[in-house]
Amino acid sequence: MIRIGHGYDVHRLAEGRKLILGGVEVPFGKGLLGHSDADVLIHAVIDALLGAAALGDIGQLFPDNDERYRDADSIELLRTAAKLLERSGFSVCNLDCTILCERPKLMPYLPEMRKRLSQAANLPLDAVSVKATTEEGLGFTGEGFGIAAHAVCLVER
Ligand code: MG
Repeated sequence: MIRIGHGYDVHRLAEGRKLILGGVEVPFGKGLLGHSDADVLIHAVIDALLGAAALGDIGQLFPDNDERYRDADSIELLRTAAKLLERSGFSVCNLDCTILCERPKLMPYLPEMRKRLSQAANLPLDAVSVKATTEEGLGFTGEGFGIAAHAVCLVER
């Protein structure tokens, strides 16, 4: 049996925060605002994995009013979600992600993000794809108010 999962997340950009994407710190004057490290890419990935197995969503698994997850390293949350999926008998075939971000340019950081995601989710590198696009100056990502991410995955049991 094969199943598909989709995840989507958005975080607002704010001064005085580190920008963490896919477990990688990207040098930039602003960072994403959130209860955890606000790693929008990993949050979308977690929702895609959980969605494929109909295991709920990231907010149910790691509530944002729970002090245990304040400033949480989202790589650790991904590790936990991937183990949950595994325990439910699913294995991930592939994972494909797109980050929607006007600035900074993410191209130089994509290979490291891909590596970190594959390690945390216990997947071969060639099963993980991370892409980035701008939205041509349009909407909230285009105007630099925030960063969004989509993720899809295929799993089998
Ligand atoms: Mg989030």
